[in-house]
Amino acid sequence: MKLRELKEEIRASALNAGFIRARILAPFKPEPPPEGLRVPDNRRLGMPSALVAALPYGNRPLEGETPFAGDPPRGTGSIAPFARRNYYREAVRRLQVLAAEFRTRYGGIRADYCIFCNSPIPEKPLARACGLGAAGRNSLIITPEAGSLVIIAGMTLPLALETDIPLTQDESFFFCGACDPEHPPCKAACPTNAVRGDGKIDRERCIQWYASGNGAAVPPEVVRHWGRRLYGCTVCQDACVRNRRPIPGTRTAEGTLPAYLDCRELMAASDGELKERFKGTALGLSWPGPQGIRRNARLIWEQDMGPG
Ligand code: SF4
Ligand code: SF4
Repeated sequence: MKLRELKEEIRASALNAGFIRARILAPFKPEPPPEGLRVPDNRRLGMPSALVAALPYGNRPLEGETPFAGDPPRGTGSIAPFARRNYYREAVRRLQVLAAEFRTRYGGIRADYCIFCNSPIPEKPLARACGLGAAGRNSLIITPEAGSLVIIAGMTLPLALETDIPLTQDESFFFCGACDPEHPPCKAACPTNAVRGDGKIDRERCIQWYASGNGAAVPPEVVRHWGRRLYGCTVCQDACVRNRRPIPGTRTAEGTLPAYLDCRELMAASDGELKERFKGTALGLSWPGPQGIRRNARLIWEQDMGPG
């Protein structure tokens, strides 16, 4: 089979598996992970190519699901739709099936098909390099098919494929920036002025950054805009013109969480109880961690009920 056909076959398999966009990056030479984080298998950093794909979580309830709209009740904290299922785990599960198929079809050993998703490997540069999407002014990757409402995952391939090219400058501008170059809606909507507008977020102003367990203390100007978010600020994504059309999500039962949870119970729970409660969910990852969950719950509780 010609290399081009091989590449299209791999892409088609990924799309059949439910990914909304699939690109090939060759060679696969990711940027080093941020200091302190270790890539699990350093041998994989120099593979001939990789599949980089986007799994959509969408902005519409799936058939048979009841949407939750409105504010959560007093003393409870909301979980953003993107975290109500463990889409990372779902992406890995789908890639594992693909890896087994590819190994049968194309040969190689198991370690040749190394899956990365929510790993220390910086995924956004990979996504930009192979045209998975444009670099968003809200710091996220904007895909043509599903805006920024995707998670990015991929796997290395032991195949010397031709790379997919990045989006051109004009295409990138079309997918992010053309909305209103002077006053991007994502920047205008951010309650804490954390969207700088140059593709970077001022993380020490960003609710999502703190909600993920970062920062020693949450500054009062961020607390003021916290609302009843137990986990997940989506304001800049909700405002993005690329996310406004109906975007179907991915059906999965992995790590299902309700739309909101009782803050008092969370504040009183031990580390072990919280780990058990959120095992396998998007809140059971290394972030926000038990301490972060309790801090988020306390911010809501104190705002609703007063300190104590
Ligand atoms: S996640 Fe929220 S706080 Fe952070 S940049 Fe977006 S809108 Fe602003
Ligand atoms: S609102 Fe406009 S500038 Fe902001 S991320 Fe979306 S497309 Fe880009």
